[in-house]
Parts: sequence; structure tokens; C-alpha cells
Amino acid sequence: MARPSNILTRIARPVIDFALPSRCPACGEIVDGDDRFCLGCWQQLDHLDQGCMQCGDPGIALADSESLCGACLADPPAFDTMRAAVRYGEVARTIALRLKYGGRVGLARTIAAAMQRHMTGFDDALLVPVPLHRGRLWRRGYNQAALIARALAGENRARLGLETLIRTRATPYLRAMSAKDRAKTVRGAFAVDDGHRAAIEGRRVILVDDVYTSGATTNTCAKALKRGGAAQVHVRCWARVSMVDDDIY
Ligand SMILES: [Zn+2]
Ligand SMILES: [Zn+2]
Repeated sequence: MARPSNILTRIARPVIDFALPSRCPACGEIVDGDDRFCLGCWQQLDHLDQGCMQCGDPGIALADSESLCGACLADPPAFDTMRAAVRYGEVARTIALRLKYGGRVGLARTIAAAMQRHMTGFDDALLVPVPLHRGRLWRRGYNQAALIARALAGENRARLGLETLIRTRATPYLRAMSAKDRAKTVRGAFAVDDGHRAAIEGRRVILVDDVYTSGATTNTCAKALKRGGAAQVHVRCWARVSMVDDDIY
């Protein structure tokens, strides 16, 4: 039979090992600093710096010298620009799910660090997260987009508007819906809170989300912010699905 001290060691060691060294947030390998990926996972991430000037889609052929995709030329979204840190893929998805459902709230810092390169020139802006409906917020305990916005505010001079945008009603998950149905489902589901109108009047807003898929939610939020008086709306998020990757679900 194992001596009590051995039993204690066996129980305590995994906890100590996990708590002390920094680990890659995707695969768990030990890395040499907080909020960092191991080299293998970092290389698997597709860091996005090119794409449509407006919607940021990296996978679509661009239509003209202004670098807008055909979809933005035909039906421009309500937001002015959209930039994601990485393309939605295996590692990006793991991180997004661990933050959203796995309670790994510290990942908001890792995500914000990766989003930082798309944050220059926004010192005067207001950071506004895509809100969760209060029922979902109550069940999950936190809004992942708000955590990312807060982490970004810590690194930038932009102010934080956690309560600027509200959800006026709950909406079902959009995953299995067509683009048209998604847009219809979220129409009018967001509004600027009356008490926060003065804070966005004539200002540039950075709308923060974790994952951008069809853009239905972000576009509806951007419409609400512009209707509420925002001068510009710039969407910033962790991972973006390209329209050519739509089968990723
Ligand atoms: Zn890794
Ligand atoms: Zn576009």
C-alpha cells in the first residue's frame, strides 16, 4: 500500500505541474511565457493580414483596386472595417471553445494579445462587446466578448463600453441557418442602451466579438450602433470564417 505522503504527492503533482509553468493554451505543452502558444500551434494558426478592406474576408478574390470583395460592393455591411487575428481553423476553434464554454477566462488575454496588431490608431474609440442575452449570460456566468474587450482596454487607450449595446431579445443559435435566415433571425435584436447614447454620439466604436461567421450578428450590432449615433464602427475579433470555408461547420 502506498504511504500517505506518496498518495498526497500523486494527488498534488498534477495540480502543481499545471499551475506553475506556462502552458500552450491549445495543446498544453510547456512554453516560456504566459499567454503564448507553442511553436507548433502558433504555426498552425493562419494569421490574417490581408483580405477585403471592408469585411476582411481572406478567401475571396478581390474585385477592384480598392480591394473590396464582390459581396461588399453589392451589399455593403453596416460596419466600416472588420479584422480578425486568425482564420477559423482547428487551433483557433479550440481556443474559442475553451474561452466560451470551458471556463478558461484567462484566454481572453491570449486572444487580445493576438488582436493587438489590428488595434493601432484607435486611441479615441469606444470598445463595445457583442452582448449576450441575460439568460445566456446568467447560465454561462460571463460574456466572452466582454472579457476580450476588457483585455483589449487594458492594453489600449480606447475606453470600455460594456453596457453600451444591449440585446433586446434572445435569439436561437444561428449555426445551422442560411445567411438569409441568420440575418432575419437577428434583425432588431440589438439596441444602444438609452443611458449610453451620449457616450457613442459621433464617436468611433470598436465592436468586439470572439468568432465572426456569416457576419449577421455583427452587422445587426453595427446597424444599431450607427442608428444610435456612432460615427464609425470597426469590428475586431479573434477568428474569422471565410465564406469559402463555410463547410467548416
Ligand atoms: Zn501548442
Ligand atoms: Zn468584403
